Formats: sequence, C-alpha cells, structure tokens
Amino acid sequence: MTWNTQSSFTAFTVAVERQLESQRSDRLFRDDLAEAFVAAGPSHLSASISEHAPVMSGYLALRTRHFDDWLLERTNSGIPQVVILAAGLDARAYRLPLPADTRVFEIDLPEVVAFKENVLAQLGTEPTCAVTMVGADLREDWPNTLVNSTSFDRTVATAWLVEGVLPYLSDADNDRLLDDVFRLSTPHSHLAAEHVNSAITRFAKEGPGRVVASHWKSAVDDPVGWLGRHGWLATVADQATVAREVDRSLPAVLDQAKTGNARLWWISCERGGEVGSRPTR
Ligand code: SAM
Repeated sequence: MTWNTQSSFTAFTVAVERQLESQRSDRLFRDDLAEAFVAAGPSHLSASISEHAPVMSGYLALRTRHFDDWLLERTNSGIPQVVILAAGLDARAYRLPLPADTRVFEIDLPEVVAFKENVLAQLGTEPTCAVTMVGADLREDWPNTLVNSTSFDRTVATAWLVEGVLPYLSDADNDRLLDDVFRLSTPHSHLAAEHVNSAITRFAKEGPGRVVASHWKSAVDDPVGWLGRHGWLATVADQATVAREVDRSLPAVLDQAKTGNARLWWISCERGGEVGSRPTR
C-alpha cells in the first residue's frame, strides 16, 4: 500500500515506540498489536523511525500511559462513548479493559484505516468492546460521516481523545475541529488533547526534532484560554508529576531545563456551558 502523507506515516513511529515499550520488564502498558502493525508496515519505515527516535524517545510511552489512564477513568465513571480522532494505530479498544458496553469510534485518514482493518482482520483479534473505524479527513466534513454513517449517539456523553495530530493541522483546521467536537458533545462530555507551543516549534526545528517539527503547522501558547473559547474547561497536566507517579524519569523533550520554554501540552477538559462558537456546516 502507499502512504501518501508524512503525517499518516507518523502513526508507525508511535507503533514502534509502543512495541519497544511493551518489551520492557517495567513497561507502562502492553500493546501486543503494535508489533503486528510494524511488521506489516512500509519497508522504508526504519529510516524514518531512526530519524524520529532521538526526539521522541520515552515521550510517546509516557504520553500513551497518561491518556490510557485518562480514558479508563472516564469510561469507568460511566461515559458510554469514546471518539478517538486521528487514532492511527492506537489499539486502546483492543488492549484496555474498557467496560464491555463502551462504544469506541476511531477516525483517521482512509489509507490508515484500511491498513489497520486489514492487519486486524488477518490476526482475527477481537476488541474489548464495540469499535467502529471511520476513514475521514479531519480537515473536511468528518462530523457528517460520523453522525450519518455510524451508530454514534450525539445524545449521550462522549470522551474525545485527540492525541498526536493537532500540530499537523493548521490553526483554522483546529479551530473548526474543536467547534465540531463541541457541537457533537452533550454536557458532561470530556476531551483530552495534545498540542505544542510556539517555543517548541522553534526549538524542535533547530535541533534533532526538525524531522518531526518541519511538518507542524500550528501551535498554541495558552491552551486553557484557547479551549475555553471553544467551550471547554481545560487543565494542563504537570508532566513531571505524571512521570513520577509511574516511576519514570522525565523524557528530555519535556525537561524545561533542557528545552527552555518549549512545551508539549497534555490537556484534559470538561464541556462547559453554552460558550464558544458553534458554527453549522
Ligand atoms: N493518535 C495516534 C497515536 O497516538 O498513536 C496516532 C498519532 S500519529 C502521530 C498522527 C495521526 O494523525 C496519523 O495516524 C495520521 O494519519 C493522522 N492524521 C493526520 N492528518 C490527518 C487528517 N487530516 N485527518 C485524519 N487523520 C489525520
């Protein structure tokens, strides 16, 4: 198969890191599917990964565990529906003990979804709950596809996860995406997202991170304010605490003694009242 975009190719970088993490005796999670995805991936993969590795080493494992815990907390507290935007080769619907009646919807570019479904079909692996994969471009009218082509229920609370993609989209795309998410969310819905600030964009473009950061198109310096304007009550995770809680040292890319003001934000939000813009398409 052909991988057309660098951003879809990055799904493999994360899978490789999850595979490596799963092999550790002190692993933060176990993702058995990561190995199968990597094995079925494009042959020029290893070159790209070795370019990314010095920057992202340790980061992706900690990020995965952080958002795993976030998701389990939300679903265990009764949120029945999960939407993972830009799911890539994320296998949470297969490897996390989600409540059996949870419904998970995963959205990514059609080429990535086709690849993933093909590998999963060959393995015959069963998810821990119902999962629906949707091939759609987040810069286009994905809400229409989600609402009209799947069993997504806009009358119940949703946990939305947006990990590893916002920097690859433009500011305008991200604003529209957040408005769409708000519009599809009932009160008591939750959202978790990862984004970067402008200082890390400058920092990464100069250092070994330039391979990753050269594809970034957006950054946000005030994530709480930004999400607030889109209707979400946001808090930013203290990553040093996250690392300490799982007994890991802070990855270099998160260590401000090394990166200055550069930040990779891990944000979790609850849907507020009727604030923020609510465009109709
Ligand atoms: N969230 C996943 C994870 O953490 O494993 C994947 C992260 S990967 C770095 C970025 C993902 O964003 C890729 O799977 C890519 O295909 C997806 N992506 C990038 N641009 C997209 C777009 N315009 N619409 C849908 N998905 C997109």
